[in-house]
Amino acid sequence: MSQITLEGVRAYGHHIDGERVDGPPLERRDPARNKIVATCAAGGRAEVDTAANAAAVAFASPVWRRIPAQGRAELLETLAGLLERDADRLAALDSQEVGKPLRFARGDIALGIGHVRHAAALARTQKGDSYTGLAPGYTVLATREPVGVVGLITPWNFPALITLQKLPYAIAAGCTVIVKPSEFTCSSSLEIAALCEEAGLPPGVVNVVTGTGPDAGEPLVTHPLVAYVSFTGSTRVGQAVMAAASTSLTRLGLELGGKTANVVFADADLDAAADAVVFGAFANQGESCVAGSRLIVEAAIAEEFTATVVARAGALRVGMPDDPRSDIGALIHHEHRAKVHAAVLAGTAAGGEVLSGGRAPDSPELMEGAFYEPTVIGSVGPGSPVFTTEIFGPVLSVTSFGSPQQALALANGTPYGLAHSVWTSNLDRAFEMGRGLEAGTVWVNTTSDGSPALSFGGVKQSGFGREGGEEGLREFTEYKTLQFRGEPRPSPFRARGDDSTGEDQA
Ligand code: NAD
Repeated sequence: MSQITLEGVRAYGHHIDGERVDGPPLERRDPARNKIVATCAAGGRAEVDTAANAAAVAFASPVWRRIPAQGRAELLETLAGLLERDADRLAALDSQEVGKPLRFARGDIALGIGHVRHAAALARTQKGDSYTGLAPGYTVLATREPVGVVGLITPWNFPALITLQKLPYAIAAGCTVIVKPSEFTCSSSLEIAALCEEAGLPPGVVNVVTGTGPDAGEPLVTHPLVAYVSFTGSTRVGQAVMAAASTSLTRLGLELGGKTANVVFADADLDAAADAVVFGAFANQGESCVAGSRLIVEAAIAEEFTATVVARAGALRVGMPDDPRSDIGALIHHEHRAKVHAAVLAGTAAGGEVLSGGRAPDSPELMEGAFYEPTVIGSVGPGSPVFTTEIFGPVLSVTSFGSPQQALALANGTPYGLAHSVWTSNLDRAFEMGRGLEAGTVWVNTTSDGSPALSFGGVKQSGFGREGGEEGLREFTEYKTLQFRGEPRPSPFRARGDDSTGEDQA
């Protein structure tokens, strides 16, 4: 693994039908140094239309249609090899544009490559059902057909990883794709699209249109040639996407916000739990949909456990993303940092007490960047906005509980349902909590875990649909039955009783 130095300002266009298409530049500043590092093209309805037509032509083309699932698997494996070759560069791009420590960006790319390989494996074993016993001489094949042209709209917190949680499964299914990355983090998706063609995917199969959400995202959702949109982003924008899709009746998968609870019982391995609570809350600067932003801790151990968490949070090193010693980098931009700080103030106004952090670091080296200290707020009640609202920054609230029922009610007491963690050594309790927690994922004695094999997604206002694994591939397909009769089916009209049909009477 080598550290890549990114020089100068990268200038990108859209990637449509294998060609670069230029547009007015949108600037991206590195949030750690506040310097312009890249420009991508500001696209809109016209570029989305060009890309949708290119993707539709590619979808219908015999070149793509004749590549069987086995062939798509081989293309994805070649892509995985190219991503491995360029992993250092992709990690450097995401680290710089997101502001996240490079070592974590490398982990994102490795996981993304795992998705590409897993999607290839699923493509190799894609199968349908057959029904042979429904009626004499009646045979039915149930197949999974590619849904068609799909739009993939991604957020800025894991730019390459979220692209790679969607794109290879769409390709494995046989779809063609238009990616609309966040306007803050375009580089890695554009470079991945170029790698797709280097791997041998025909032009037009993977397209990228860049631009803001309202300008480039919304037309993608409503475009008549786009059959399905897989959207990852905030619940607020997810609601707007769903409203827009109601006119075109575009099928949707929505991966939205979260408010993960870490429920810690007194009988847990408290040392491991404290480490995991700190990692879960502050990894990726807390800018993660599964950030464990709420500690819900049994009253009997609350004081001591919170003190351990505060001490470990205080020991985290906030620093430059390219410094290998950094645990926490910069937030995505200065406006977001202001929002995070406003949320902390709202928490204290509602009765919370800042136990650590609650401010920008004062190190001169970090002055230009959007850095914020890992923050723990104690004495948070279930009505406080820090308890119920996704802050998407390094902020952990602490609330105590008396009984397992109360713990469950607190954990489920937000509009979100993405993921939760439970810490206990009691198996019955772990099982009961696991069944009762409202979420697509429940971790027991672990946090932020997963594998490309495990489909991921939410319930309640965290969205619907699943990403990754078999369910993730299924999202990009339509169920179709192909029904054969060995002998012609007698017309039900013939069974009227008088042995005549309307045809006879005519
Ligand atoms: P966001 O909702 O602001 O933007 C997400 C994407 O949607 C961007 O590409 C944006 O340009 C686009 N967009 C904005 N308005 C649009 C519109 N009207 N129509 C179509 N597209 C539009 O989210 P963000 O700030 O980039 O990311 C943070 C959010 O993403 C958090 O809420 C986080 O929880 C969520 N997230 C969820 C998951 C998950 O798997 N559930 C994963 C990562 C992030």
